[in-house]
Amino acid sequence: MSTPVSTFPHPYRAFTAFLSASFAAGPPPRRQFLPAEFRETLLAGAGERLPLLDAPVLAWALAERIHDADYLRRWRAGEVTRAEERALGFPWSPAVVERGLASSGATLAAVQDALALGLGINLGGGTHHAYHAHAEGFSFLNDVAISAQWLLDEGRAARIAIVDLDVHQGNGTASIFAAEPRVFTLSVHGANNYPFQKEVGDLDVALPDGAGDAAYLAALQDSVFPALHAFAPDFVFYLAGADVLEGDQLGRLALTPAGVRERDDRVFRWAALRGIPLVLVMAGGYNKNPQTLIAARLGTLDAALEAMGQRV
Ligand SMILES: [Zn+2]
Repeated sequence: MSTPVSTFPHPYRAFTAFLSASFAAGPPPRRQFLPAEFRETLLAGAGERLPLLDAPVLAWALAERIHDADYLRRWRAGEVTRAEERALGFPWSPAVVERGLASSGATLAAVQDALALGLGINLGGGTHHAYHAHAEGFSFLNDVAISAQWLLDEGRAARIAIVDLDVHQGNGTASIFAAEPRVFTLSVHGANNYPFQKEVGDLDVALPDGAGDAAYLAALQDSVFPALHAFAPDFVFYLAGADVLEGDQLGRLALTPAGVRERDDRVFRWAALRGIPLVLVMAGGYNKNPQTLIAARLGTLDAALEAMGQRV
């Protein structure tokens, strides 16, 4: 898709692997995922807010900066065991590999937007359970880790904060950057949610089942923002998981839609008011009610655009 002439009152846009051929090619979606007809509703709503661009495919060489070369070679060739497929949550197919590359390419494209405009968006991404040499939890490639490494390697950022507010701990990300002082891995998650063996990140806040808005927002205020102030990042990745919402099939924290919107507002404002480039990736969302999930996703986009509007 060529870049459309924007008719929007702002310069921002979103990349998405949902538009790529690999999405139509399967594999069949998991029952927890947004059904295809609702994906169209989400894309239509997002398209009313900003231009949507097809995800560029990531070069394998960039994936190799984070992932084990033999791991990538085996997945590329389909030399994957049943146990590995079970850990991922999908059977292997060429489309699984292509989707991983498209989603990671979308995040890297969003990085370029963030550097140029202050905000970059992948309407997907956030596959934070992918480790250096194994896939799990619907995550084959760790898109945010690949992009963070690119920023460091190219000298485009020196202190990167990964603000992971998906309801599941970003275990792959924490493991990958455990010995990297230039990347601050921060996760607020459900104590009783997958992964049951959590990694140690730079800041981990584990909340009890049914925590709700007040406890969640207090954790942001008391732990997350003080840690961000102290680290003083020059680039932020935000994993805006909607699986913190009440009614999520895989999450246990039970935030209200208003609570999720408040969470998003605070994160975007924190970065926007300081002029720190931010990449938004959507991460998880498996609500029983597709309309609830779509409203939350669109609310996240609105929060991002509003915060950027307040900056100028
Ligand atoms: Zn999640």
